[in-house]
Amino acid sequence: QKAEWETLKTATSITADGKHYDVAANIGTPKDLDGVLANGAEGIGLYRTEFLYMDSAELPTEDDQFEAYKKVLETMNPKPVVVRTMDIGGDKHLPYLPLPEEDNPFLGYRAIRISLDRQDIFRTQLRALLRASAFGNLRIMFPMIATIQEFEAAKKIFLEEKANLQKDGVKVSDDIQLGIMIEIPAAAVLADQFAKHVDFFSIGTNDLIQYTMAADRGNEHVSYLYQPYNPSILRLVKNVIDAAHKEGKWAGMCGEAAGDPIMVPILLGMGLDEYSMSATSVLKIRSLMKRLSTADMAKMADVALNENISNDDNAALVKKTTGQ
Ligand code: PEP
Ligand code: MG
Repeated sequence: QKAEWETLKTATSITADGKHYDVAANIGTPKDLDGVLANGAEGIGLYRTEFLYMDSAELPTEDDQFEAYKKVLETMNPKPVVVRTMDIGGDKHLPYLPLPEEDNPFLGYRAIRISLDRQDIFRTQLRALLRASAFGNLRIMFPMIATIQEFEAAKKIFLEEKANLQKDGVKVSDDIQLGIMIEIPAAAVLADQFAKHVDFFSIGTNDLIQYTMAADRGNEHVSYLYQPYNPSILRLVKNVIDAAHKEGKWAGMCGEAAGDPIMVPILLGMGLDEYSMSATSVLKIRSLMKRLSTADMAKMADVALNENISNDDNAALVKKTTGQ
């Protein structure tokens, strides 16, 4: 296994029937880049920028952020880097940014909701990203999008800051894809409409599962309901992938499920384009993909989506079909 993984470090991710998919990595800070390079990820599928804010005693300046983003983009160039704008709120807090007391923080003031409200913070982040875009292959995604109006509002601010920088003669890329995380069921259901507006989707199963099953992702008393392979979750995921492809867009996944050897065969069967995971899972998943044929996985996914009725049935089906 060690020898196989060694050769896979410099390989692209190809299935047994010769189809290529991107196996990318999730990072929280530029320090995580060593692991990404060591494991040969085909890009960064999720850069969680909130750590930049959480590791700082005050709001990070535009220049501080620019340096961090530039480092990541330059290191990965020409491979793509999907940077997620600040996802604060929920269980993530900043000492210098007091948030309201809320009965349900996970259903409250969080992520893009804060960014659209505190445009000073959001514009600073977008300007830093735009300046860094000249140094690599940048894609930006917005977290916790529930409505198309939120996406359009965020895009409008992005375009305003882009125009401002260009007016000042700052070099910015003209080729920045704008996408959204699919982690709220409303967005998954309306994926066909979202797909006309965005450049890509990245499915955040950590939150999508918790909101779909109404089961707190960190609450052990309801953890039995945290079911990645539940047909309800799989159908939402399929809806998102199909909607993207219908509009010629791509769909990825950056929640934990994207690096799960039980979930990946089903996702291959549904045609997911990009799989972003902890860097330490990249070679394991690349090796697994090499053994799977997408045609066989499509047949299996059909059963998982339409015949089986439980999470456990689907886990057993994948294990049996793929010999895990
Ligand atoms: C997700 O919700 O799946 C996700 C990737 O975002 P986070 O885990 O940072 O909430
Ligand atoms: Mg999330």
